[in-house]
Amino acid sequence: MKAIVLIDGTKGERLPIKPAFGSACNGCGWCCASEACGVAREHIPDQPAGGPCQALEHDAGRFVCGMIRRPSHYMRLPNDWADGVLGDMIANALGAGRGCDADDPEATGAVS
Ligand code: SF4
Ligand code: SF4
Repeated sequence: MKAIVLIDGTKGERLPIKPAFGSACNGCGWCCASEACGVAREHIPDQPAGGPCQALEHDAGRFVCGMIRRPSHYMRLPNDWADGVLGDMIANALGAGRGCDADDPEATGAVS
């Protein structure tokens, strides 16, 4: 599997290995560290077109989506009162909880 860019916050912790496409998401972070999704590219002002997502957060041994947890922080909104509603909308748009939707690296030829 191709190496992913290291992200601050892991404190050197060993990360989960990406499961097969369609399996339950284990928070390995491979998808979002490889390439930011459309939500990130459209709504995070300083998100580079390529590279890891600026909103990828590490907590309790797994990566989580910061745009679901606290979208106002990443969208640079003046307050966080809408975080719950926005986070739910983003989670729904992303298909959170529906299993790993990232292609397996072997299937994409991204194996080093
Ligand atoms: S969707 Fe897949 S690649 Fe992305 S964090 Fe979950 S298990 Fe990892
Ligand atoms: S916005 Fe969330 S789902 Fe999209 S790339 Fe960033 S962390 Fe991943």
